[in-house]
Amino acid sequence: MKFRNFKMVDYVVFGRGSFDQLQEILAPHRKEKFPMIFFVDHFFQTKQDFLSRIPAEESDEVIFIDVSHEPKTIYVDDLTSFLKKKYGTISGIIGIGGGSTMDMAKAVSLMINNPGSSKDYQGWDLVKFPGVYKVGIPTLSGTGAEISRTAILTGPERKLGLNSDFTPFDQIILDPELIYNVPKEQRFYTGMDCYIHCIESLSGTYINEFSRSYGEKALESCQKIFRQKDQWDNASDDLLMMASYAGGMSIAYSQVGVAHAVSYGLSYLLGTHHGVGNCIVFNHLDEYYPEGVSEFREMVKKAGICIPQHVTSGLSSVEFDNMINVSLGLVPLWENALGKNWREIMTREKLRELYERL
Ligand code: NAD
Ligand code: ZN
Repeated sequence: MKFRNFKMVDYVVFGRGSFDQLQEILAPHRKEKFPMIFFVDHFFQTKQDFLSRIPAEESDEVIFIDVSHEPKTIYVDDLTSFLKKKYGTISGIIGIGGGSTMDMAKAVSLMINNPGSSKDYQGWDLVKFPGVYKVGIPTLSGTGAEISRTAILTGPERKLGLNSDFTPFDQIILDPELIYNVPKEQRFYTGMDCYIHCIESLSGTYINEFSRSYGEKALESCQKIFRQKDQWDNASDDLLMMASYAGGMSIAYSQVGVAHAVSYGLSYLLGTHHGVGNCIVFNHLDEYYPEGVSEFREMVKKAGICIPQHVTSGLSSVEFDNMINVSLGLVPLWENALGKNWREIMTREKLRELYERL
């Protein structure tokens, strides 16, 4: 048996107001003549107070990332070629935003130093060379993208991450002040991504003490935030930020499961956002995660959220087949959820029936 030699983020800063340390952190990584590029979630485009705190020097560039749709390989390729043409290379990329912006930062950092299109690297351990220096700064918590070894992209043929040892950030800054004021629904959906990471990791066949220790802590934090406390209370921002981190650490050494495998198919075909797609699917997974699903429904009720229903009604057989193909391609997720014989359990027919219920 071979154990994973797990590459982690190199440096972590945590604390309210820690964002203001960014300038000092970047200084030793600046290469003469090559700029730092700040990828900033387009939500902040009109937030002058925040923008004035970004330590961009004259030769640096701030690029607002349009996250109306989750990241596509073509968006990564366009930004990479724009930056390469303009600067040759760059000192680094700082991704400031939710999972989508952080994944864009990771992916473009890798593609600056790897030939071809980002679609060529969707999969496991296909990236050949380290990217440029990259920093992740979450402004939304739950995905664990700040800690993970993947950058999830939708390409022409699949929704699949660039999973590699070169993908984790060199540095992350966890400043709970940055998730203050995230709209309620968004906070809930991204928070539930974390909750579902924990359930899928803890009940998967890949579970081990490393993953369990992080997964249990993250699960307990999600329960505190979304069941006991008023989840919109900003005092829980610190806890939510660390839950996201710990949930990400948990799946890094195990895997996610059925909700993610099915939700990727939905996102690929319908563009459903990750957090929303996971909730739509998880709501129908009593057979696989009975306790988690019933607790999830309580949290949905407490939050007063309406999980979308009937999102697949009216789809054609070809469209169902597309979703099924994307989903069944996620072998490690199914193997973690259902064991080595997962193909006998999750047949195409059974998966089609599940998709039809969503
Ligand atoms: P997101 O990044 O897609 O952003 C969702 C919305 O929130 C956007 O409209 C954005 O503008 C807005 N937003 C961001 N910060 C805000 C703030 N502080 N205040 C108000 N609005 C804000 O959402 P997400 O749920 O964080 O990320 C989902 C993405 O992450 C998907 O693309 C998914 O594939 C990816 N993901 C990646 C990993 C990974 O390990 N790399 C894991 C899970 C999900
Ligand atoms: Zn997720």
